[in-house]
Amino acid sequence: MIAAVYFRSVFLRDETPVETAAACCADSLPSPTLLPPQPKPLPHGLVRIRDIDASIFIDLKYATTDNFTGKILYYDTVAYLQRETAEKLHAAGQRLKSLRPDLRLLVYDATRPLNVQKKMWEAVQNTPYRRYVADPKRTSLHNYGAAVDLTLADRNGKPLDMGTAFDHFGEAANVVREDDLLKRGILTPQQVKNRRLLREVMQASGFQSISGEWWHFNACTLAEAQERYPLLSHSDTLLNLFFLPSRPTAATPDSLPDKP
Ligand SMILES: [Zn+2]
Repeated sequence: MIAAVYFRSVFLRDETPVETAAACCADSLPSPTLLPPQPKPLPHGLVRIRDIDASIFIDLKYATTDNFTGKILYYDTVAYLQRETAEKLHAAGQRLKSLRPDLRLLVYDATRPLNVQKKMWEAVQNTPYRRYVADPKRTSLHNYGAAVDLTLADRNGKPLDMGTAFDHFGEAANVVREDDLLKRGILTPQQVKNRRLLREVMQASGFQSISGEWWHFNACTLAEAQERYPLLSHSDTLLNLFFLPSRPTAATPDSLPDKP
């Protein structure tokens, strides 16, 4: 637990704004024109979602016990993405505002370090849910900062009803069978409408959806992510703040399973 608390403090320290030259030398300046605090640059092309679009809500489920493992999988409450992915997400947020000014995007997971992917994989071994989690040997687009899990929320951050919870393992989360799920009464017309609005704004902004999860969106293919971005994993040492680049050791396919 001590390690957990310390880990969180490291990340919080990373959030401290950089002291500006104007601020540290204010006494010697004729007019104390303070520059706005600038966030520290992050490694590997990553950005904080909130630095790109502060109107997007963030509720990282794997930083809580409210996820399919029932365990906290990381101790960071800041959501990171590759800049290109975050800019697409910003475009999706803008499109949503133009269509429905009363709604916002609500992010559940963004960059997911490979060591967290391994924890998820271990949690579903020897269970029927194994097929829902990407094998860390193949990697997931989340591990490159090129995928995002999210939903729609009202302006107070309350999620809209999408018919299932985030990370629901089952056919009701399926995207391509929605018409059938509707006919069978598993989904309501409003739930399907909410899902389609989420897909509409995300796909119009350059994301691709996947068949098995209404909440998951890829910003590019896995092959493109492997070409462009480092594979991200937590450092083993807490003094190293963030992620370390590494490359997958196994051959990687060009496609993802339904549940990355
Ligand atoms: Zn996902």
